[in-house]
Amino acid sequence: MKKSSGGKELYGMVIDLDKCIGCGACAVACMAENNLAFRYDETDKLKSATWMRLYRLSNGQPYPRTRVVYLPRPCMHCQHHTPCVSVCPVTATQMDEKGIVSQIYSRCIGCRYCMAACPYHVRYFNWWDPVFPKGLENYLNPDISVAMRGVVSKCTFCNHRYQRAKDRAYMEDRRDLKESEYITACTEACPTKAIAFGNLKDPQSQVAKLKKSPKAFRLLEKLGSEPKVYYLSTQDWVRRQGDNVLKEEVARKAS
Ligand code: SF4
Ligand code: SF4
Repeated sequence: MKKSSGGKELYGMVIDLDKCIGCGACAVACMAENNLAFRYDETDKLKSATWMRLYRLSNGQPYPRTRVVYLPRPCMHCQHHTPCVSVCPVTATQMDEKGIVSQIYSRCIGCRYCMAACPYHVRYFNWWDPVFPKGLENYLNPDISVAMRGVVSKCTFCNHRYQRAKDRAYMEDRRDLKESEYITACTEACPTKAIAFGNLKDPQSQVAKLKKSPKAFRLLEKLGSEPKVYYLSTQDWVRRQGDNVLKEEVARKAS
Protein backbone atom coordinates (compact mmCIF):
# COMPACT_ATOMS: atom_id res chain seq x y z
CA MET A 1 0.00 0.00 0.00
CA LYS A 2 1.36 3.39 -0.98
CA LYS A 3 1.47 5.55 2.13
CA SER A 4 1.65 9.29 2.42
CA SER A 5 5.29 10.32 2.33
CA GLY A 6 6.87 12.76 4.68
CA GLY A 7 6.08 15.45 2.08
CA LYS A 8 4.75 18.90 2.74
CA GLU A 9 1.17 18.20 1.74
CA LEU A 10 -1.65 16.23 3.35
CA TYR A 11 -5.08 17.32 2.25
CA GLY A 12 -8.13 17.27 4.46
CA MET A 13 -11.50 18.87 5.06
CA VAL A 14 -13.30 20.48 7.99
CA ILE A 15 -17.11 20.73 7.84
CA ASP A 16 -18.82 23.06 10.30
CA LEU A 17 -22.21 21.51 11.10
CA ASP A 18 -23.28 24.67 12.93
CA LYS A 19 -23.05 26.50 9.58
CA CYS A 20 -24.54 23.85 7.28
CA ILE A 21 -28.15 24.62 6.30
CA GLY A 22 -28.70 21.38 4.37
CA CYS A 23 -29.22 23.12 1.01
CA GLY A 24 -27.43 20.34 -0.91
CA ALA A 25 -25.38 22.73 -3.08
CA CYS A 26 -22.27 20.71 -2.20
CA ALA A 27 -23.85 17.47 -3.43
CA VAL A 28 -25.04 19.06 -6.69
CA ALA A 29 -21.65 20.69 -7.33
CA CYS A 30 -19.95 17.34 -6.70
CA MET A 31 -22.11 15.54 -9.27
CA ALA A 32 -21.59 18.24 -11.90
CA GLU A 33 -17.84 18.44 -11.32
CA ASN A 34 -17.30 14.68 -11.40
CA ASN A 35 -19.58 13.71 -14.30
CA LEU A 36 -21.94 11.69 -12.14
CA ALA A 37 -25.12 10.75 -13.97
CA PHE A 38 -28.22 11.12 -11.83
CA ARG A 39 -31.12 8.67 -11.88
CA TYR A 40 -34.64 9.81 -12.59
CA ASP A 41 -35.93 7.11 -10.28
CA GLU A 42 -34.30 7.80 -6.95
CA THR A 43 -36.46 5.37 -4.98
CA ASP A 44 -33.57 2.96 -4.51
CA LYS A 45 -30.88 5.07 -2.90
CA LEU A 46 -28.40 2.21 -3.00
CA LYS A 47 -28.31 2.45 -6.80
CA SER A 48 -27.49 6.18 -6.95
CA ALA A 49 -23.93 7.44 -6.85
CA THR A 50 -23.81 10.52 -4.66
CA TRP A 51 -20.23 11.01 -3.58
CA MET A 52 -21.22 13.85 -1.28
CA ARG A 53 -24.32 12.71 0.60
CA LEU A 54 -26.35 14.69 3.13
CA TYR A 55 -27.62 13.00 6.27
CA ARG A 56 -30.29 14.52 8.49
CA LEU A 57 -29.59 14.05 12.19
CA SER A 58 -32.17 14.69 14.91
CA ASN A 59 -31.82 14.73 18.67
CA GLY A 60 -35.02 12.68 18.87
CA GLN A 61 -36.67 15.06 21.32
CA PRO A 62 -40.31 16.17 20.99
CA TYR A 63 -41.19 19.77 20.04
CA PRO A 64 -40.11 22.34 21.21
CA ARG A 65 -36.81 20.63 22.12
CA THR A 66 -36.38 19.12 18.65
CA ARG A 67 -33.05 19.90 17.03
CA VAL A 68 -32.03 18.94 13.49
CA VAL A 69 -28.58 19.08 11.91
CA TYR A 70 -27.44 18.20 8.38
CA LEU A 71 -24.24 16.25 7.97
CA PRO A 72 -22.55 16.30 4.54
CA ARG A 73 -20.48 13.14 4.07
CA PRO A 74 -17.74 12.80 1.45
CA CYS A 75 -15.05 10.06 1.47
CA MET A 76 -13.05 10.36 4.69
CA HIS A 77 -9.71 9.64 2.94
CA CYS A 78 -8.68 7.42 5.85
CA GLN A 79 -4.99 7.84 6.57
CA HIS A 80 -4.28 4.73 8.63
CA HIS A 81 -4.61 1.20 7.22
CA THR A 82 -7.01 2.67 4.67
CA PRO A 83 -9.67 -0.08 4.72
CA CYS A 84 -10.64 0.08 1.03
CA VAL A 85 -7.02 0.18 -0.17
CA SER A 86 -6.09 -2.77 2.08
CA VAL A 87 -8.64 -5.11 0.50
CA CYS A 88 -8.58 -4.17 -3.20
CA PRO A 89 -7.08 -7.18 -5.03
CA VAL A 90 -6.08 -5.20 -8.16
CA THR A 91 -4.79 -1.91 -6.67
CA ALA A 92 -7.65 -0.01 -8.30
CA THR A 93 -7.78 2.23 -5.24
CA GLN A 94 -4.67 3.84 -3.84
CA MET A 95 -3.59 6.64 -1.57
CA ASP A 96 -1.13 9.09 -3.07
CA GLU A 97 1.66 11.00 -1.31
CA LYS A 98 -0.65 13.92 -0.49
CA GLY A 99 -3.15 11.66 1.28
CA ILE A 100 -5.81 11.45 -1.42
CA VAL A 101 -7.46 8.06 -1.91
CA SER A 102 -8.22 7.71 -5.61
CA GLN A 103 -10.11 5.22 -7.74
CA ILE A 104 -8.82 3.93 -11.09
CA TYR A 105 -11.84 2.78 -13.08
CA SER A 106 -9.89 0.93 -15.75
CA ARG A 107 -8.38 -1.37 -13.11
CA CYS A 108 -11.55 -2.00 -11.09
CA ILE A 109 -13.02 -5.48 -11.58
CA GLY A 110 -16.22 -4.66 -9.68
CA CYS A 111 -15.67 -7.22 -6.89
CA ARG A 112 -16.93 -4.63 -4.33
CA TYR A 113 -14.57 -5.76 -1.55
CA CYS A 114 -13.81 -2.08 -0.97
CA MET A 115 -17.49 -1.33 -0.44
CA ALA A 116 -17.72 -4.03 2.19
CA ALA A 117 -14.55 -2.77 3.89
CA CYS A 118 -15.42 0.93 3.96
CA PRO A 119 -16.85 1.80 7.39
CA TYR A 120 -18.38 5.03 6.06
CA HIS A 121 -20.38 3.66 3.10
CA VAL A 122 -18.98 6.25 0.74
CA ARG A 123 -18.37 3.93 -2.22
CA TYR A 124 -20.85 3.33 -5.01
CA PHE A 125 -21.16 0.52 -7.51
CA ASN A 126 -22.31 1.52 -10.99
CA TRP A 127 -25.22 -0.79 -11.67
CA TRP A 128 -26.12 0.92 -14.92
CA ASP A 129 -24.54 2.61 -17.93
CA PRO A 130 -24.33 6.32 -17.17
CA VAL A 131 -27.04 8.20 -19.06
CA PHE A 132 -27.03 11.99 -19.27
CA PRO A 133 -29.98 14.14 -20.36
CA LYS A 134 -29.81 14.97 -24.08
CA GLY A 135 -27.20 17.63 -24.76
CA LEU A 136 -25.57 17.42 -21.33
CA GLU A 137 -22.94 15.01 -22.62
CA ASN A 138 -21.45 18.04 -24.41
CA TYR A 139 -20.89 19.78 -21.08
CA LEU A 140 -19.12 17.05 -19.15
CA ASN A 141 -15.94 17.91 -17.31
CA PRO A 142 -13.07 17.00 -19.69
CA ASP A 143 -10.69 16.43 -16.76
CA ILE A 144 -12.70 13.48 -15.40
CA SER A 145 -13.50 10.11 -16.97
CA VAL A 146 -17.09 8.96 -16.71
CA ALA A 147 -17.37 5.85 -14.52
CA MET A 148 -18.72 3.00 -16.62
CA ARG A 149 -21.10 0.24 -15.60
CA GLY A 150 -19.59 -2.44 -13.36
CA VAL A 151 -17.03 -0.35 -11.47
CA VAL A 152 -16.93 1.34 -8.08
CA SER A 153 -16.59 5.11 -7.77
CA LYS A 154 -16.12 7.56 -4.90
CA CYS A 155 -15.08 11.09 -3.88
CA THR A 156 -11.49 11.91 -4.81
CA PHE A 157 -11.24 15.32 -3.14
CA CYS A 158 -11.43 16.62 -6.77
CA ASN A 159 -7.89 15.39 -7.39
CA HIS A 160 -8.04 16.72 -10.99
CA ARG A 161 -8.31 20.24 -9.55
CA TYR A 162 -4.97 19.68 -7.83
CA GLN A 163 -3.39 18.78 -11.18
CA ARG A 164 -4.91 21.87 -12.76
CA ALA A 165 -3.65 24.11 -9.95
CA LYS A 166 -0.18 22.57 -10.21
CA ASP A 167 -0.11 23.16 -13.98
CA ARG A 168 -1.00 26.81 -13.45
CA ALA A 169 1.70 27.15 -10.78
CA TYR A 170 4.35 25.65 -13.10
CA MET A 171 3.38 28.17 -15.79
CA GLU A 172 4.18 30.87 -13.25
CA ASP A 173 7.44 29.21 -12.31
CA ARG A 174 6.19 28.15 -8.88
CA ARG A 175 6.41 24.77 -7.16
CA ASP A 176 4.14 25.32 -4.17
CA LEU A 177 0.43 26.03 -4.22
CA LYS A 178 -1.05 28.92 -2.32
CA GLU A 179 -3.94 28.12 0.02
CA SER A 180 -7.24 28.22 -1.88
CA GLU A 181 -5.56 27.54 -5.24
CA TYR A 182 -6.73 23.96 -4.83
CA ILE A 183 -10.14 23.44 -3.28
CA THR A 184 -12.88 20.91 -3.95
CA ALA A 185 -16.07 21.73 -5.88
CA CYS A 186 -18.20 21.28 -2.73
CA THR A 187 -16.03 23.75 -0.82
CA GLU A 188 -16.42 26.28 -3.61
CA ALA A 189 -20.19 25.82 -3.87
CA CYS A 190 -21.17 25.99 -0.20
CA PRO A 191 -23.06 29.29 0.29
CA THR A 192 -22.46 29.40 4.05
CA LYS A 193 -18.75 28.54 3.91
CA ALA A 194 -19.42 25.47 6.05
CA ILE A 195 -16.72 23.49 4.24
CA ALA A 196 -13.02 24.29 4.55
CA PHE A 197 -10.42 22.38 2.54
CA GLY A 198 -6.66 22.56 2.48
CA ASN A 199 -3.29 21.28 3.54
CA LEU A 200 -3.43 19.84 7.06
CA LYS A 201 0.37 19.95 7.25
CA ASP A 202 0.49 23.71 6.79
CA PRO A 203 0.09 25.12 10.32
CA GLN A 204 -1.13 28.42 8.83
CA SER A 205 -3.93 26.80 6.81
CA GLN A 206 -7.54 27.23 7.84
CA VAL A 207 -8.08 23.45 8.13
CA ALA A 208 -5.02 22.96 10.35
CA LYS A 209 -6.34 25.61 12.73
CA LEU A 210 -9.97 24.45 12.67
CA LYS A 211 -9.19 20.81 13.36
CA LYS A 212 -7.64 21.82 16.69
CA SER A 213 -10.92 23.38 17.83
CA PRO A 214 -12.51 21.81 20.93
CA LYS A 215 -15.66 21.50 18.77
CA ALA A 216 -13.87 19.20 16.31
CA PHE A 217 -14.58 15.49 15.98
CA ARG A 218 -14.37 12.75 13.39
CA LEU A 219 -16.80 9.98 12.51
CA LEU A 220 -16.13 6.55 14.02
CA GLU A 221 -12.83 7.81 15.36
CA LYS A 222 -12.47 4.77 17.59
CA LEU A 223 -11.86 2.55 14.54
CA GLY A 224 -8.43 4.12 14.21
CA SER A 225 -8.63 4.68 10.45
CA GLU A 226 -7.63 8.34 10.96
CA PRO A 227 -10.15 10.02 8.66
CA LYS A 228 -8.96 13.32 7.17
CA VAL A 229 -12.46 14.80 7.25
CA TYR A 230 -13.23 16.62 10.49
CA TYR A 231 -16.52 18.01 11.69
CA LEU A 232 -17.26 20.92 14.00
CA SER A 233 -20.30 21.13 16.25
CA THR A 234 -21.07 22.95 19.47
CA GLN A 235 -23.79 20.41 20.30
CA ASP A 236 -22.88 17.34 22.36
CA TRP A 237 -25.66 15.18 20.92
CA VAL A 238 -24.27 15.74 17.42
CA ARG A 239 -20.77 14.72 18.45
CA ARG A 240 -22.22 11.68 20.21
CA GLN A 241 -23.98 10.61 16.98
CA GLY A 242 -20.58 10.67 15.30
CA ASP A 243 -19.95 7.68 17.59
CA ASN A 244 -17.46 9.56 19.65
CA VAL A 245 -17.13 9.10 23.33
CA LEU A 246 -17.23 12.52 24.92
CA LYS A 247 -14.53 13.34 27.44
CA GLU A 248 -17.13 14.19 30.11
CA GLU A 249 -18.69 10.75 29.69
CA VAL A 250 -15.38 8.98 30.16
CA ALA A 251 -14.84 10.98 33.35
CA ARG A 252 -18.39 10.19 34.54
CA LYS A 253 -17.98 6.46 33.92
CA ALA A 254 -14.63 6.42 35.70
CA SER A 255 -16.04 8.13 38.82
S1 SF4 B 1 -13.94 6.43 3.83
FE1 SF4 B 1 -14.11 4.41 2.83
S2 SF4 B 1 -13.57 4.81 0.69
FE2 SF4 B 1 -12.85 6.58 1.85
S3 SF4 B 1 -10.69 6.08 2.35
FE3 SF4 B 1 -11.95 5.39 4.10
S4 SF4 B 1 -12.36 3.23 3.65
FE4 SF4 B 1 -11.67 4.15 1.71
S1 SF4 C 1 -23.48 23.44 0.47
FE1 SF4 C 1 -22.84 23.99 2.55
S2 SF4 C 1 -24.72 24.58 3.59
FE2 SF4 C 1 -25.34 23.52 1.71
S3 SF4 C 1 -25.62 21.39 2.39
FE3 SF4 C 1 -23.52 21.51 1.64
S4 SF4 C 1 -22.30 22.01 3.46
FE4 SF4 C 1 -24.44 22.41 4.00
